[in-house]
Amino acid sequence: MTPTLSHFARGARLPAHSTRTSPIYDPATGRVAAHLPLADATDARRVIDDAAAAAGAWGERSASDRAQVLFKFRELCLANRDAIARLISNEHGKVLADARGELQRGLEVIEFACGIPHLMKGEFSDGVSRGIDMHSLRQPLGVVAAITPFNFPAMVPLWMLGPALATGNVVVLKPSERDPSCPLRLAELWSEAGGPPGTFNVLNGDKEAVDALLTDPLVQAVSFVGSTPVARYVHEAAGKHGKRVQAMGGAKNHCVVLPDADLAQVADALMGAAYGSAGERCMAISIAVVVGDATADALVARLAERVRALEIGAPTEGNLDMGPLVTSAHRDRVAEYVSAGVAEGATLVVDGRAHPRVAGPGFFLGGSLFDRVTSGMSIYQDEIFGPVLCVVRVSSADEALALCDSHRYGNGVAIFTRSGGAARDFAHRVQCGMVGVNVAIPVPLAFYSFGGWKESAFADHNQHGMDGVRFYTRVKTVTSRWPEGTSGASFVMPVLR
Ligand code: NAD
Repeated sequence: MTPTLSHFARGARLPAHSTRTSPIYDPATGRVAAHLPLADATDARRVIDDAAAAAGAWGERSASDRAQVLFKFRELCLANRDAIARLISNEHGKVLADARGELQRGLEVIEFACGIPHLMKGEFSDGVSRGIDMHSLRQPLGVVAAITPFNFPAMVPLWMLGPALATGNVVVLKPSERDPSCPLRLAELWSEAGGPPGTFNVLNGDKEAVDALLTDPLVQAVSFVGSTPVARYVHEAAGKHGKRVQAMGGAKNHCVVLPDADLAQVADALMGAAYGSAGERCMAISIAVVVGDATADALVARLAERVRALEIGAPTEGNLDMGPLVTSAHRDRVAEYVSAGVAEGATLVVDGRAHPRVAGPGFFLGGSLFDRVTSGMSIYQDEIFGPVLCVVRVSSADEALALCDSHRYGNGVAIFTRSGGAARDFAHRVQCGMVGVNVAIPVPLAFYSFGGWKESAFADHNQHGMDGVRFYTRVKTVTSRWPEGTSGASFVMPVLR
């Protein structure tokens, strides 16, 4: 019988009140593997209330005490690494090694958050005036919501959970309805690690669950990662309800290739960055901007051979390059973009629609490679989020930079060159949140912060790093004096001397 999953609250799985469900697929076979309850207002009320009940005590614990739970949680995640990776691969479709990699990157944020006693320290000024000291401190917000996308069911929740829990907040996680089993397992491991009931909760669902979180007065802050239209909506709706909000959106990451670049290195980097995880990464490279026809001819020839040779199969089958896409609807949408690119006049060098695995079972699509793409085409403008790489030919480095800057997304960008001067100039001038120099996927480590510019993020604070600590805390500034006797009332604005 196909199992039905649940929510997670009070430290245990919580059966749903709502009877609405959505199917969770095994993308390698196309079969329905489980049903997911989609929360209604009653489910949301229960989970948010459970979280609120736990907030005070957790926030009052010392930062060192909370860090001990994070240490133990990290240990348990590592001990269960293979099983967690399997949960990810079975529902997302990414290959096992990639699933292990995303867990590792997520756990790096937990490791960073284990330093919370140091990270949360405030400031102190001794004697700002005669006999007066001033200090600031950071305090948790209370109940915070984390709303996450399908493509990183471990890493993105951990980006939010690490700083939120370490700083003393309690979390209601609303994971993607496509692959919720990993987030549910993370919640169980948090409980096993000694995380008090109600501190890490999971509310499964769709827009109804999200809207409940965006409007509930007990929810103090919302962290969202997903597509740009939903990010914009979440930013506006949560803001309208007086919440602190950070909403990361979609991407169309460019990789600029200058004529002096080492093309063997570029081809290696582009293969992983464009086709790894079947292109379903917000930091995937989907546009290669190549300077000069000779460079473009040589690079396209190298790539074509390797795209044709991509090893594609069930994600748990062995040492493969790419698994299936997440759903048949998404696979079909990506295939439609390939057709649109042909209709718009781009040169289709490798056609992923012709791959033998496309016939099924499962939601497979081969890698596609386009050459001579221009900026007016939909395959250039839109986020396809699949294994499709578009080569755009330009005649100068300045033209390449202008192209990157004119795109509405500004998540990640890369440049490949042997010239330090050209790379420095590009990194300094480009209008984009994360820049790689001879690095195709420049995902910042946990002790830096992650975030795009332009329509890739609607937020004052990035994810993780010190920005995570700032987002999940309020600053309080205390001015104190301990006078002996009285000095009389003063009716003028106090001036410190
Ligand atoms: P999505 O926007 O469809 O869903 C994200 C979350 O929002 C899910 O939890 C989903 O249930 C919820 N949601 C979906 N539609 C909604 C609606 N109408 N109202 C309220 N909530 C809604 O995104 P996805 O398809 O799961 O993930 C892929 C997208 O996420 C891509 O655009 C990718 O670039 C982006 N992404 C961005 C980053 C980043 O850091 N910038 C990281 C990972 C993924």
